[in-house]
Amino acid sequence: MNAEKIELKGLFPEELAQHVSDMGLERYRTRQLIDWLYNKGVTDFESMTNLSKTVRARFDEQFALLRLNCVGEMRSSSTDTVKFLFELPDKRLIESVLMWDGKRRTLCVSSQVGCPLDCQFCATARMGLIRNLTAAEIVEQVLYAQRFLRAKGDELTHVVMMGMGEPLLNFDQVIRAIRLINLDYGAAVGIRRITLSTVGHVPGIAKLAREKLKIGLAVSLNATTDEQRSEIMPINRKWPIEELLCAVRAYYDQVKRWVTFEYVLLHGFNDTAEDAHRLIALLRDIPCKINVIPWNPIDDARYERPPQKAIDRFVDILSQAKLTATVRYSKGDDIAAGCGQLYWEMERGVK
Ligand code: SAH
Repeated sequence: MNAEKIELKGLFPEELAQHVSDMGLERYRTRQLIDWLYNKGVTDFESMTNLSKTVRARFDEQFALLRLNCVGEMRSSSTDTVKFLFELPDKRLIESVLMWDGKRRTLCVSSQVGCPLDCQFCATARMGLIRNLTAAEIVEQVLYAQRFLRAKGDELTHVVMMGMGEPLLNFDQVIRAIRLINLDYGAAVGIRRITLSTVGHVPGIAKLAREKLKIGLAVSLNATTDEQRSEIMPINRKWPIEELLCAVRAYYDQVKRWVTFEYVLLHGFNDTAEDAHRLIALLRDIPCKINVIPWNPIDDARYERPPQKAIDRFVDILSQAKLTATVRYSKGDDIAAGCGQLYWEMERGVK
């Protein structure tokens, strides 16, 4: 692979047009390229049959066309979840999870290979950070799922940046990818239907607010005291709960969209009635919803998934306090659809 080639799928149309013009080619070539890439979904220049051989060769010289090689596709037995394991050009592996829920078709995408944040309950954390994904690598996960659905006469409706990695630590490429995913000729996912989930990276949240993007923001709170949160999420030692909530309030003031707080329930650790009451007190003055996620067990785990009774009790207390709380039962438990889990199964050679 030629490292100097420009990756087409990471370019905005105006940037592409600029390159085409710099090559001394006609303006309509940009339209043609866009049409081949996004409407016809071709994966090489050779297939762009309405371009002359010379033009194809020139594009081939100048541009790279990213392909993600799908090396694993696993369906949950309930068939409402498909997990894709993709091989990147450098042979690294990432995963995306496609979920069917009523009329929604949601793709959960990765933003990094691995993650540096070391959350104790998370499978991806065990990999450490290998590298950031490029915008094209993020966009292509979405385009792949869109092609997969369209081949069935279906359409992707939502995207969540909740897969492997911390999106705010790969800020520029993630924001670029979000804008590209939103473009009409690309995956065309509405901006309000894109959600970014962060560990609670305070400067990243402030920076995101300045982008004035109408995407949804989800924040992984996961605990109600600093002592507890620092134990499972080392990032809390840098940006403790009060600072994080302050950043979220400021974010809301600028963007004016309700924020979602994710709360991974770990039995005997953060699922007591006291935890629920502390959570209510913390979030009182923030326009938000709470997404309670019963922990999805990973190997060599130190934690326990809460029994149904504990989940119900926790959610009931929140609901009584008029907080909007929903439980996200990890979709595709049987295909290890939790963050980073498929990766480990492949590494261990489990099918
Ligand atoms: N780094 C981002 C996005 C990736 S994690 C973040 O922290 O938000 C996406 C969500 O999955 C987070 O809310 C995280 O707390 C949760 N999560 C990670 N591992 C999990 C597991 N094994 N079971 C349930 N939820 C998990």
